[in-house]
Amino acid sequence: MSTTKALFEVPATPLVPVKGEAAAFPVHRIFCVGRNYADHAAEMGHEVDREAPFYFTKPASAIVPSGSEIPYPPGTSNLHYEMEFVVAIGAPAFRISTEDAGSIVYGYAAGLDMTRRDLQNAAKAKQRPWSLGKAFENSAVIGEITPKAVFGTVGPQRISLKVGDVVKQDAHLSDMVWSVAELISHLSQYYHLVPGDLIYTGTPAGVGPVVAGDRISGEVEGLSPITLVLGAAE
Ligand code: MN
Repeated sequence: MSTTKALFEVPATPLVPVKGEAAAFPVHRIFCVGRNYADHAAEMGHEVDREAPFYFTKPASAIVPSGSEIPYPPGTSNLHYEMEFVVAIGAPAFRISTEDAGSIVYGYAAGLDMTRRDLQNAAKAKQRPWSLGKAFENSAVIGEITPKAVFGTVGPQRISLKVGDVVKQDAHLSDMVWSVAELISHLSQYYHLVPGDLIYTGTPAGVGPVVAGDRISGEVEGLSPITLVLGAAE
């Protein structure tokens, strides 16, 4: 017996606007890279693992568009921003080489990996998964996607974040430990990457807390900037 009728309304796929395109990018999965900038790993009390990158994930439903105001999330008193360079995958790949990895990139966006740091740290201390700290509603902020040909080569661009008028994070994409090509190739050893997948490539040093009323603004040179306003807790 088979049926195509769902029991209840199927949630809509999040759509991310694309620069110069009428059509939007539909989000399938969100992979996030841990400790991909040495100075951020150090501020968290770790060294970068040069053997291999590691990942956690967020549900696609965590996507929130740049320009949003979100409620201060439940269950935390230490919400952190993490400014990140986001890779949008535009073609399928499985076990792709670093040499070929660039061919499956659709484009890039600026993003925020919002983190309930207190819950993440508690999980780390008990050697438990990070889901409560990382994979929650409104935790994956993303700006307009810029096609890769418009952006050009990844490396020299500055990545920076301000809370209000105060610069908190300021680095360059060339500071990443694992390159975009290396991340794609490595992830594709474990997953069949498909169009709609996003990779949040990690954050540089300078992460910190935000509170209700704060306005976050982030920039990656060559991409549309992002903003996020923190509202009151629900
Ligand atoms: Mn992150």
